[in-house]
Amino acid sequence: MTELWQLGLAEAALGLKEHRFSAQELTGACLKRIEATEPKVRACLSVLSESALETAANLDRQGFDDQRPLWGLPLTVKDVFCFKGAPTTAGSKILEGYQPAFEATVVKRLRQAGAVILAKTNCDEFAMGSSTEFSAFKPTHNPWNLGRVPGGSSGGAAASIAARQTPGAFGTDTGGSIRQPAALCGCVGLKPTYGRVSRYGIVAYASSFDQAGPLARSVSDCGRLLAAVAGHDGRDSTASSRPVDDYLALKPPKPSELVVGLPKELWEADFDSSVAKVLSEAKNKLAESGMTFRELSLPNLKYSVATYYILAAAEASTNLARYDGVRYGSRSAGADRSGLVEFYTDSRTKGMGAEVKRRILLGTFVLSSGYYDAYFRKAAEVRRLIQADYLKALENCHFLLAPVSSIPAWPFGAFTDDPLTIYQLDMMTLPLNLAGGPGLSLPAGLGPDGLPVGWQLLGKPFDEAALLSAGLVFERLVPPLPQLPTDCQ
Ligand code: GLN
Repeated sequence: MTELWQLGLAEAALGLKEHRFSAQELTGACLKRIEATEPKVRACLSVLSESALETAANLDRQGFDDQRPLWGLPLTVKDVFCFKGAPTTAGSKILEGYQPAFEATVVKRLRQAGAVILAKTNCDEFAMGSSTEFSAFKPTHNPWNLGRVPGGSSGGAAASIAARQTPGAFGTDTGGSIRQPAALCGCVGLKPTYGRVSRYGIVAYASSFDQAGPLARSVSDCGRLLAAVAGHDGRDSTASSRPVDDYLALKPPKPSELVVGLPKELWEADFDSSVAKVLSEAKNKLAESGMTFRELSLPNLKYSVATYYILAAAEASTNLARYDGVRYGSRSAGADRSGLVEFYTDSRTKGMGAEVKRRILLGTFVLSSGYYDAYFRKAAEVRRLIQADYLKALENCHFLLAPVSSIPAWPFGAFTDDPLTIYQLDMMTLPLNLAGGPGLSLPAGLGPDGLPVGWQLLGKPFDEAALLSAGLVFERLVPPLPQLPTDCQ
């Protein structure tokens, strides 16, 4: 018998509509699953059992509502989304105990659509990282192999889906933080176009890159989640007022109609052998379907890592200046009060982790007057070149197809002392954030080592509908991963 926690969003929505089970039963089943798997997976920073059951009970009382596309559906959200009634830490000690007085637009819209928020998921501190090992609270474990990382920074979100704690989740992607953990945990993740989803109420990392998006177990489930949150928001001037397409009525094209560009800079990377094997087998399946592949070059892609880490660090150093122990951020009990500078220094030294400090130092350096032109301005110019390469490449094909990570989920601690290697591992995901377009991360298969391998479809700005529609074709040609990760059955 299928348990309620095993259902995807679409199946769960149908069951609720047909009154086969109630919102409370579904929420209760997911909360039990969280309880059962959390000791191993550690995906959540706070589990909101009481408020989730209360929301579900209210929904049941009001009765099923067709106008609310997420009616009764349980979700988790990364711990960077602010809302009342739950702590928001962004994975940092400096925000421990912080209770926001306002609600992120994403959360507000999810609730309006009828969703039930189950838990807030773990992430690297201030979303800076690629493995969730930089969370100040605990590492999250990959449900496919508990000795491995789930990816990051939205590792808790991806792990919560892979462990079947929830049928859907929200994360944020500044440089790959939705697509990479989705790939490492074998689920589907969508980074929308910059500006498609409001950033209001989301703890900022690098504001010109940050974008919220869904993770789920299927492409159409991601479409359903995006539909609930996309669109203009008067509270975020970068949220686009372009009309929102209907992501619930996706029309998959014929494979033979699709021309897919393969950026050679990414496909020629040095791959782990199991990743290479999965990708080449999956690519063969697409080729057999009649899809056309076109190899192309994005000549400036090789500068992506350097460009991103200069710009993101610069923005982070500015955004994180607010955590001074006075207006925002915890004040350590024995804080040095001998002077204002000493006081700030003490609070920030104790409240922030090493990786966050590294980025603040780097960001402050590249913005300092003597180095601004050499680093920040130059990186901003290169960003434009990468964006131009990206748009030009899309003139000759419908989408770009690229791997997400050159290696599968790695063992804990493998790279923690080697930040440059970690930064380099982001090479495949960063170009999209520099260009601002939408990207869909999909499972490509399971490697001989039993670990999921993902790839990503990169699309034209604001054409999430076409991207998701193509994703449906991919999903049909490359079957989804087995129902449950072995470590978490
Ligand atoms: N790994 C990248 C970084 O550390 C991206 C993180 C993200 O997308 N939030 O900056």
